[in-house]
Amino acid sequence: MTATITTTGLCPVCEETIRIRNNGTLYRHEQPYDPDGPIVGTITDGGVVWHTQCGGSGRKPAVALPMTFARWLHGHAARRDAHENPVTYLAQRMFRGCSYSPRSGPADVDWSTAGELHEVLHREGFGREGGCDWLCGYVEQAGEDFARSVGG
Ligand SMILES: [Zn+2]
Ligand SMILES: [Zn+2]
Repeated sequence: MTATITTTGLCPVCEETIRIRNNGTLYRHEQPYDPDGPIVGTITDGGVVWHTQCGGSGRKPAVALPMTFARWLHGHAARRDAHENPVTYLAQRMFRGCSYSPRSGPADVDWSTAGELHEVLHREGFGREGGCDWLCGYVEQAGEDFARSVGG
């Protein structure tokens, strides 16, 4: 068995990026909180709504998205090991935003490969003059981890 490439797709209902099952349908996922959105619930035999599930769960994605470095990195942003895992640290640094800017996702950034991210960091002044900084090493390591995870 080779490593499975995690494919993602755009949910036709909530427009979130959701992982796709082997049979081509979207994994079950919760509906993101939207005060204006319709209430979608799963009702058990007892008539109790126990889960707010997105109506796009189990459906075919609107668009199947190939796994990119940006999407892969974004998937690490929720981990709690940033203090010891350069990949998590980088993911949170690139996607978490701060109290002044909302969290961003893979669609909000203008890079999709590790090489492009590296260029962006230099453009924003992270690299030393004419050279690379420690953050560049994180990007390099994340790029290698990503290549391994997609079987590259
Ligand atoms: Zn959805
Ligand atoms: Zn560099």
